[in-house]
Amino acid sequence: MSYYNQSLRIDTTGLPLEWVGYKEAVKLYAVDQVVYTLGNDLYTIYGGINSASGERSSITVNSIIATYGRTKHFQAKMSRYTPPLNNQTLFKRDGHLCMYCGNRFNKRELTRDHITPISQGGRDHWKNVISACKRCNHHKGGRTPEQARIELLAIPFVPNYAEYIYLQGRNILADQMDFLLGYISKSSPIHHRIGLEKKTKIS
Ligand SMILES: [Zn+2]
Repeated sequence: MSYYNQSLRIDTTGLPLEWVGYKEAVKLYAVDQVVYTLGNDLYTIYGGINSASGERSSITVNSIIATYGRTKHFQAKMSRYTPPLNNQTLFKRDGHLCMYCGNRFNKRELTRDHITPISQGGRDHWKNVISACKRCNHHKGGRTPEQARIELLAIPFVPNYAEYIYLQGRNILADQMDFLLGYISKSSPIHHRIGLEKKTKIS
């Protein structure tokens, strides 16, 4: 584990809030915002030597840190949260699979396909977009799957807040994953996708 690992920041009631990088994590410790920690130690940062005690100051950053300061009305916001749409999280939502041919691709080979094309009034929204390989997307062109006579392999969904945090994570550690899974419903398609991501590492 290293500086490259992000910490999962949660609030004092245990709700997952966001991923924080090394600088931000150290700052939260330095200003005494960390109330408790739940995961494993990630890394230790050393500071200057205290002239009175002769001891060197240090901060050990944990993988899950609970802090004060949650955005106002967070709980309400969380229940009707629609995360911003971007390709990286979209591809991860779909397990890096092309939702037409079912093959796995890396992110450079995937595209955002609008199920109902924008030209036919389709929206650029989680429920109208899926990952598609270039070949399938090209074949489908400006048509709906019905018009192109191809089948969609899974129904697209809007990730909820905890699912979105999972989708945004890079190199999520086991303790962070266990924690996040507690906030993801057993029926969420994400579970299947997590299994896929584990099987083969694709960037
Ligand atoms: Zn395909």
